[in-house]
Amino acid sequence: MSQITIDLYSDTHSKPTDAMRRAMASAEVGDEQQGADPTTKKLEEMVAELLGKEAALFLPSGTMCNQISFRVWCEPGDEVVIDSTCHVMHSEAGGAAALSGATFNVVAGDRGVISPGQLRAAVRPASVYAPRTVLLSVENTVNFAGGRVWPLDALQAVTAAASDCGLKRHMDGARLMNAVVASGVSAADFAATVDSCWIDLSKGLGCPVGAVLAGDRDFIRAALRFKHQFGGAMRQSGIIAAAGIHALEHHVTRLAEDHENARRLAAAVSAIPGVHLDPPEIESNMVYIDVAESGWTAPALVEALKSDGLLLSVMGPTRLRAVTHIDVTTGMVDEAAARLAQRLSEPPR
Ligand SMILES: *Cc1c(COP(=O)(O)O)cnc(C)c1O
Repeated sequence: MSQITIDLYSDTHSKPTDAMRRAMASAEVGDEQQGADPTTKKLEEMVAELLGKEAALFLPSGTMCNQISFRVWCEPGDEVVIDSTCHVMHSEAGGAAALSGATFNVVAGDRGVISPGQLRAAVRPASVYAPRTVLLSVENTVNFAGGRVWPLDALQAVTAAASDCGLKRHMDGARLMNAVVASGVSAADFAATVDSCWIDLSKGLGCPVGAVLAGDRDFIRAALRFKHQFGGAMRQSGIIAAAGIHALEHHVTRLAEDHENARRLAAAVSAIPGVHLDPPEIESNMVYIDVAESGWTAPALVEALKSDGLLLSVMGPTRLRAVTHIDVTTGMVDEAAARLAQRLSEPPR
């Protein structure tokens, strides 16, 4: 029997809707590299306003937003304080070292959340022998901590401590809009705690490509130069910027449906024998599942589920991740839990 594929691999697998494609097809365009693409300019103004920053810059990816920010804030030999779960350390091909000569000072936070005390302990006193600690980088939501939302007061406290210590503050906001919808805190209130911040368009917002980095005018002027140097300058980018504008207008409040579906999935899978939610709290659009007790390994289970038409990702030897997004319906979530229960009722491979 052929059955529909349920793709919970990542919100990066979300596809542009018909309405988004129409917005893209009719976008007004110009040469972005010369600052002459009106649709890109409009998107940048929208994101600057959304994040309460002076200016913003459209970039091809979130990874480039992080890497350009590190390049602006760090000199070779400088170090960045991060939590041990951060995407910038695990999933960006060593970019901070390769492109900016920066090293990471890694703190074992509480599921992605670093305390002011941990930050202060990590910052090195000025010395000719030690790396200069120049930047704190935080992630919101915290992907590898289960899509955790930073509590605003915790964020304000640690970024204030960083500022006291003379550090700049950066936020990887790949899923900042999920944090906004989940918490009710505005994007501008989250972004006010940092000097540079970005949102991804190609994750839960459902665009095919793109991310937007924001900060004050001097930061964005410096970032623009590195955008060109890193090969991120584009031409008629209005075609893809139009998708971003459409997403900001139509795909933000609906993220609540993804969060609801994630909670529904979590409730169903936690009832399956041998399965534990890790972490147990579902704060946004991610469900992390540990199957150690079932005897299955994550790679074997993911492979078996693929043949059942259910796509999940491997996040550890026995840890899997399911991510809800615009193309995932409530019915699919129920069916996903049923397919998982069926597989886990069989002897492990
Ligand atoms: C996906 C992701 C990125 C990178 O974004 P891309 O647009 O895929 O380059 C950075 N940080 C986090 C937390 C992410 O989940």
